[in-house]
Amino acid sequence: MAYDVLIVGGGPAGCSAAIFLARAGKQVQVIDDETGGSQRALVRNHYGRPEDTPGPTLLADGKQQAKKYGASFANERVQKAERIGDLWRLTTPSHTFEAPILVLATGTQTQLAEQIGVPLQPGREPHVRQIAVHDGRGKTALPGLWVAGILFGVSVHTIITAGNGAQVAVEILSEERGTRFVDHDVLSSQPTASNS
Ligand SMILES: Cc1cc2nc3c(=O)[nH]c(=O)nc-3n(C[C@H](O)[C@H](O)[C@H](O)COP(=O)(O)OP(=O)(O)OC[C@H]3O[C@@H](n4cnc5c(N)ncnc54)[C@H](O)[C@@H]3O)c2cc1C
Repeated sequence: MAYDVLIVGGGPAGCSAAIFLARAGKQVQVIDDETGGSQRALVRNHYGRPEDTPGPTLLADGKQQAKKYGASFANERVQKAERIGDLWRLTTPSHTFEAPILVLATGTQTQLAEQIGVPLQPGREPHVRQIAVHDGRGKTALPGLWVAGILFGVSVHTIITAGNGAQVAVEILSEERGTRFVDHDVLSSQPTASNS
């Protein structure tokens, strides 16, 4: 299977990026071993989720949404990432995956970024030791390599890391298309001015 984008990390950042990229027609593979912080969270501050939401529920809903638009998921740990020609190759215990674009959304875990040689800098959020050096949009100095979520350096809240994952996806799509990418759907019956 040929992929357009590989995403390591299926937390709020990786899944949100997957939703935007898959909806834009990209073949997206997410590889996630479900060891992120949200697994232990009870989320009460996520916009649009007024009920107390267990982290695993939020993650499962995000994953379902990404799958609905065509993203594939593998529940495995990525052990190695390498650039082979124009492609990134990821190796897990049982698979290899290749694509020209790689998004690292690995939360506080920086082993893979270190193994690849992504430049890192001190994080400023509590419990975030290091974050990636990037151009402000998530693009690193390595070809085709982007970062999102905690590794990007945003505040450690699900709504913010999810928003950042979406933002990074928009940046990837905008760069590829050479124009600002927008993903808007519109109601078939438009609200009138009085109730809009
Ligand atoms: C105990 C706790 C409670 C929290 N409560 C709240 C809260 O109430 N409200 C709130 O807004 N935020 C809360 N947070 C913070 C929130 O969970 C994080 O900000 C958010 O999850 C970060 O999203 P992310 O996608 O950047 O990283 P993560 O959610 O950490 O996702 C990273 C993913 O990458 C995967 N991964 C990493 N390396 C690899 C690899 N080599 N191969 C495969 N997969 C890999 C991990 O398994 C993980 O699923 C809480 C965090 C913790 C720890």
